[in-house]
Amino acid sequence: MKWITLAVAIILVPFCSFSQNFYDSYIAELKVDTIDGYVPTFYTPGSYTIALELQQTISDAIRFYEKESLDQFDIKLAVLDSAQWPSERVPFGYVFYSSGWIFMNTGMTYDNFKNVYGLADIYEQIDLDLKKSGISPSQMIQSFYVVYSIHELGHYFISQISNAKSPDRWTNEFIATYFSYNFFKKYSESSLREFELFHRVHKDFYQPKYSTIADFNDVYMGMGVENYVWYHSNFYFLVDALYKCYGSDFISTFEEMFPKNEQSVYEISEIIQLLDKNCNKAVENWVKALEAVTVK
Ligand SMILES: [Zn+2]
Repeated sequence: MKWITLAVAIILVPFCSFSQNFYDSYIAELKVDTIDGYVPTFYTPGSYTIALELQQTISDAIRFYEKESLDQFDIKLAVLDSAQWPSERVPFGYVFYSSGWIFMNTGMTYDNFKNVYGLADIYEQIDLDLKKSGISPSQMIQSFYVVYSIHELGHYFISQISNAKSPDRWTNEFIATYFSYNFFKKYSESSLREFELFHRVHKDFYQPKYSTIADFNDVYMGMGVENYVWYHSNFYFLVDALYKCYGSDFISTFEEMFPKNEQSVYEISEIIQLLDKNCNKAVENWVKALEAVTVK
């Protein structure tokens, strides 16, 4: 039987090392410029300003959270345009965390942003709200990505540093947004306001194909970036509600609710109940409103 074990090992080992180091090798093969620092940054030439802003914001968030944690953060940042984006793995428009890397794009014009996120039917409403608030489209787009860069850092924090294990994809996504929200509440309320403007209009006016928590867990990124971001627009308001009842302590509460060594599998209804413990059905009501969007 030994040869079978060996054959399996030969197949698995190259696969594992390949997947662990995929983004290291990917970046190594690109023609990118770099900015040294606590968060080593690799960016498409010509995108220094946005790369530096993302690097600084991520470094500030690390300093903010390192005060409360014993572990040091060890993360790298890639800021790439659509030509250099690893599209075979993750479609352009998504930003993501994987294997010690945060992947951000170099930003978009408003027209590109509308195309990528499917805003043809709702951008007039966004324009109205932007005008009312005195916020420009480019400010909104910049805050969109800056706030999501800390959401991606949140994925790193939850998976590598915290004592929590998200029980499903839904919780794993909104806790990353909570991580970002909690930082921006103290760091830059104006970025959060610009971020919120987009997500409020998107939540209320975009017509999604999927809107249940079960579909989010099952279909996930396979639903396409338009519908996927719509869920995230809703997660923002769930996080807002959680912040109102748990304040800035919610990450430690989340660690206690869903500890890393926990083996149980949770039903969505159990998760809702746990989250609602001090929230007077805020989570249950949020889920009901979300799921009602696609109920005919
Ligand atoms: Zn995420």
